Amino acid sequence: MSFLKDSAIVSDALQAYFQDSLRSDKPVINQQEMGSLIEKFGLQQHISNGDLEGGQLKQFLDNYLDSTTRLHHPAYLAHQVASPHYAGALASLVDGFTNNPMAIYEMGPGAAAIEYFMINWLLEKAGWKAAPVGPNKSINKDCGAGVLTHGGSLANTTALIAARSRLVPDVWQQGNPPDLALLAPAESHYSIGRAAGILGIGSDSLYALAVDNRGVIIPDRLPQALQRLRDSGKRPLALVANACSTALGIYDPLDEIGHFCRGEDIWFHVDGAHGASALVSKKYRHLLQGVEMADSLIWDAHKLMRTPTVCAALLVRDGRTLDNAFQQDASYLFHDKLQPGFDFIHRTVECTKAGLGLRLFMVLGALGEKGMEDYIDRQYDLAREAYPFIASQADFYCPAEPQSNIICFRIEGDDSLQLEIRNRLMAQGSFYLSTANVDGKRYLRIALMNPATDLQVIMALIESVRLARAEIESGL
Ligand SMILES: *Cc1c(COP(=O)(O)O)cnc(C)c1O
Repeated sequence: MSFLKDSAIVSDALQAYFQDSLRSDKPVINQQEMGSLIEKFGLQQHISNGDLEGGQLKQFLDNYLDSTTRLHHPAYLAHQVASPHYAGALASLVDGFTNNPMAIYEMGPGAAAIEYFMINWLLEKAGWKAAPVGPNKSINKDCGAGVLTHGGSLANTTALIAARSRLVPDVWQQGNPPDLALLAPAESHYSIGRAAGILGIGSDSLYALAVDNRGVIIPDRLPQALQRLRDSGKRPLALVANACSTALGIYDPLDEIGHFCRGEDIWFHVDGAHGASALVSKKYRHLLQGVEMADSLIWDAHKLMRTPTVCAALLVRDGRTLDNAFQQDASYLFHDKLQPGFDFIHRTVECTKAGLGLRLFMVLGALGEKGMEDYIDRQYDLAREAYPFIASQADFYCPAEPQSNIICFRIEGDDSLQLEIRNRLMAQGSFYLSTANVDGKRYLRIALMNPATDLQVIMALIESVRLARAEIESGL
């Protein structure tokens, strides 16, 4: 078997890749034309010959790695995707090789045990009660529950499915009643609107919550929004808040929103895909104060927990709400059986589900909880250091003071100039950043995901933005 030989080729290539990225020896992004990549990789040839091993593998891998966007590059500042710890990548390898789809315990006892443990670990960070490690039957009384899903979008969808099953217990038999509606800020991640669509709640039944100019929910205006919804004969399925928002990375005031939802008996869903990781930090967990009042919370490990994609958690305060979320039956999978563990399958959209917990566990196991906390503190601290530097440049403007590791800014000039500058930096392969629309204007946006990014990198970025503007304006 050539496993050892080929995996040595792969790990050698990845080690060199990591070093090149870290030293900024290679472009952070290198967008070649798709047809030429297909050609260069020799895809059809390898499929026809079945020769992808040894030297051929090495050749292919070099070409492939050359085409990647380098998340370990210090100038990787674009999207909220982890610059992964190698331990997480090893977990992906182990999971890929063992291939234990652990949604039923018998198909992956180790992976299911790890998911169960990690869910409990996350629940306690949210201030909720962990589930006992015991026989199936007594699991959800008075304690939280959760499941790992393939991404935050699916976790958001699952949360709203659970909310609907609580509000309309016979929905799986009768279908949707016509009066379901959702309260959410317009700044919510698009997966919320998409989930509402999938659930059959039309966009006319999405009620936008009043927000300030940063997109943050204004708690005093919540009663008005609810009244408007009720006046049109609707019932709130859930109220969604962001922790933090995608574009600006700002946290909604969960405490006040939580009290409102409790008072009105509305399902309170917190989208913490990006920012829930601050719960690991003693310094920053106050940003999520009140999260314990939520009914559900989503939390992506593949964003701020250095875990490879994808690994997201859906957590609920009352475990029964998740266990009643889906009411299908598949007799070959769901049946009373004597077993020493736990089946997650009734909590998920997925049937075959990867052992996602292993990725998060192996990263945490390598870094230690303190190491993870230090990483999150560092990235949030860095944004607080970089902000005054950017905001104090006479030709730059920031729409908001950062609360997380995300900063938006723009240089003097119109919206199209910001986009042109981004394109120019990406074409050079020098910096990879994103953009966002805030309050009707286009901003450049950086998310500080990489522990190798420091203030020097951000200062160099600002200088490069300035230079790009000068070049564009002089027609270069
Ligand atoms: C990233 C993000 C999502 C989507 O999560 P995926 O894991 O990319 O599906 C949802 N909500 C917020 C606030 C996010 O930042």
